[in-house]
Amino acid sequence: MIFNLGSINADHIYRLPHLPAPGETLAAVSYCRTLGGKGANQSVAAARAGERVCHIGAIGPDGDWMVDLLEGYGVEVGHVARSDTPSGHAVVCVDDAGENAIVIYPGANRALEVSDVTSALGAASPGDWLMMQNETNLQIETARLAQVGGLNLAYSAAPFDANAVREILPFVTLLMLNEVEARQLEQAIGEIDVPQLLITRGANGAEWRDRASGEVILCPAFPVTPVDTTGAGDTFTGYLVASLAQGLVPSAALRRASAAAALQVQRPGTAEAIPTGAETAAFLA
Ligand code: ATP
Repeated sequence: MIFNLGSINADHIYRLPHLPAPGETLAAVSYCRTLGGKGANQSVAAARAGERVCHIGAIGPDGDWMVDLLEGYGVEVGHVARSDTPSGHAVVCVDDAGENAIVIYPGANRALEVSDVTSALGAASPGDWLMMQNETNLQIETARLAQVGGLNLAYSAAPFDANAVREILPFVTLLMLNEVEARQLEQAIGEIDVPQLLITRGANGAEWRDRASGEVILCPAFPVTPVDTTGAGDTFTGYLVASLAQGLVPSAALRRASAAAALQVQRPGTAEAIPTGAETAAFLA
């Protein structure tokens, strides 16, 4: 079982002839609204991988449609709190060259109360996994509760904040970084010392290091032609943690995560592009 303290965002995506200059007013060529947020994406990926996922998060009065979508993907949403603060959202401007400019409003994602977390984790058992990313409040409080309860903590250091990672590191079982975040963290603290470390490198695959056994696994990416790589990392990490929770050995869990991400990057969109467990199994076969 996975508990995921994570953001739920409405992504408002505007296609524009160019990114707006200061003072400019610009009409969008098209608009769409989708479910986003690293937390929501990881929950969807882990649920698609067939694992039970309890999402711990919050939405505002405008967010019911996102909870409905999460539930539709198989995520347990009984611990998504309702806040008076508007839901988190992102305004994503994309120009014709694919360049983007993004504004994120954290909103309800940072208005969680301790009781929201304690009531959710009340159902956890030792050995369960807690996933977290750096898009909600109550990170340290939740990490402490997880440690007391004997949960494994899988932490994505994104958006990257050296101080936030430094604080959470003593609680972390599995630290999940992309190569940019890994470089930033090494610059901030030197050698990264955690029980398990995942570094993803886009089309160059992923690297896994286990401190206790000294095992290093290099997991290649599948050679595919991507159409949209947004959310590849969340697909990989959601699938990876779900697979570990299901008892797969790291090499098998990594391969499955890599396959899911390879399928996801070949489809447009983020959460809606995450493949099902059956699709991933068929690809691997
Ligand atoms: P994002 O922020 O877009 O979600 P990320 O930077 O967190 O991504 P990446 O390192 O880009 O994560 O990608 C995660 C994993 O997804 C990679 O380790 C790889 O397995 C898979 N992947 C990413 N891009 C490709 C690609 N072009 N082809 C095949 N697999 C890919």
